[in-house]
Amino acid sequence: MTSTTSIAPSVTGHYIQGELLEVGTGKHIEVTSPLDGSILGAVPDGDAQVVDKAVASASEAFQTWGQMPVKERVQVLFKFKHLLERDINSVADLVSRENGKTHQEAKAEIEKGIEVTEFASSLPQILKQETLEVSRGVECEERRFSLGVVAGITPFNFPAMVPLWMIPIALGTGNTFILKPSEQVPLTANVLGDYLHQAGLPKGAFNVVHGSKAAVEAITDHKGIKAIGFVGSSAVAKIVHSRGTLSGKRVLALGGAKNHLVVMPDAEPELTAANVVASAYGCAGQRCMAASVLILVGESDAILSGIISEAKKIKAGENLGAVISSAARERIESYITRAEKSGAQILLDGRNIIVPGREKGTYVNPTIIDGVPANHEAACDEIFGPVLTVLRVNSLDEALSIENTNPYGNAASIYTRNGGTAKYFSDHASAGMIGINIGVPVPREPFSFGGWNNSRFGYGDITGMEGIRFWTNLKKITKKWTATAARNWMS
Ligand code: NAD
Repeated sequence: MTSTTSIAPSVTGHYIQGELLEVGTGKHIEVTSPLDGSILGAVPDGDAQVVDKAVASASEAFQTWGQMPVKERVQVLFKFKHLLERDINSVADLVSRENGKTHQEAKAEIEKGIEVTEFASSLPQILKQETLEVSRGVECEERRFSLGVVAGITPFNFPAMVPLWMIPIALGTGNTFILKPSEQVPLTANVLGDYLHQAGLPKGAFNVVHGSKAAVEAITDHKGIKAIGFVGSSAVAKIVHSRGTLSGKRVLALGGAKNHLVVMPDAEPELTAANVVASAYGCAGQRCMAASVLILVGESDAILSGIISEAKKIKAGENLGAVISSAARERIESYITRAEKSGAQILLDGRNIIVPGREKGTYVNPTIIDGVPANHEAACDEIFGPVLTVLRVNSLDEALSIENTNPYGNAASIYTRNGGTAKYFSDHASAGMIGINIGVPVPREPFSFGGWNNSRFGYGDITGMEGIRFWTNLKKITKKWTATAARNWMS
């Protein structure tokens, strides 16, 4: 075992008991920067043996961390927040290098993680219990208890933010935590571990297991883990939810998305164009909240022209980051090519992009596909890249029918200046997060984050009050004291 101090270690280990541990299958997973193809380091490929060690470490730490009063626990979160704020630029640099997003986008995701940490720091106020005299001399009280050892399994697209949706709330409520980050962006996870321990978290209360399928399966099956928060594609979310639930765990698994933005003829043109473009192409379209289908209701061609002009201002290597890998770039480009072959017009073509000086980077420029039917794969599948598919309809009900038919249900937005239209849309769209003149309707803390339908397996949301409910058990205590008993005790 060696101790970790570097912010971007070239070769790193699992993070267990506050130290780096090099065990597992013996194989390593190389970490490549999508920005320029450079090798950033490698992590060991974890298996059931490593998960056992992480669970043992977290179980031991739970004996002390789980017993601490919440007011003591949140002191660690305050310090952790301060450390992240202090070093936000260097952490953002690492996030940008391993994920491929721009420095500004990396900073924004850390800021959102800081916001969740801030929310969790107010747990003493939130967890103040409720008591009521339910009948004469009888009181009922509700108290939340930690679950024990819990785990988070996270995707590549937000190396800091998605783990931080879970870690502060799960730790603040008294659990100890095992993180299995995406093997494509594993380095930020260890840095979060370093900061948590610098902030005073007892060793073993937070652990990182690296790896992919084998590590995830060991987590879903391990009897010592009480709950799993998963974020990733719907296919894997479904597997983790069913396998984890089968082994007796509480599982909330957030999945993929295909988000619809509906533009009404009365939409404010400039705001709409800028906002749609920011939603579709921010983080190179690799956000589960990204706009993917643009539904124009009635005559909205002027707004589409505005969107095309705005999108042309976004260029790979300048204000647009890379997509995660060459495999992702091929998958994204193949969707565009198949759409073109099936007769679509490619209004903006982001294929075959090489950024000078970063020839090994994996870039796709903003793309707009027009002229496909609503059941075309470009309008139905999660492409997860900077690609927007345009559909045209005659009424809001037609637009809602397309949105409702899609199996996902993460986010849906409408652009309109009419309050009644906006309300009708938010009442009838089948998605967990609704935007009105906002293309990335991420609820800010203390509101909860989570989708519906095939964008979520399990119940509840991952942040806010719903996050607190997910990581705790509620105990109901009914009490009756008699005056005689009190006198007896005093005597
Ligand atoms: P992914 O499903 O491939 O991977 C997520 C995690 O699952 C990773 O840690 C990975 O190692 C593990 N994994 C991958 N294949 C597995 C398998 N066969 N068995 C067990 N574990 C496996 O997702 P990704 O490509 O890293 O991330 C992109 C996806 O995440 C998109 O679908 C996106 O919409 C989704 N996402 C959803 C949300 C949300 O809040 N709903 C947020 C962010 C990302």
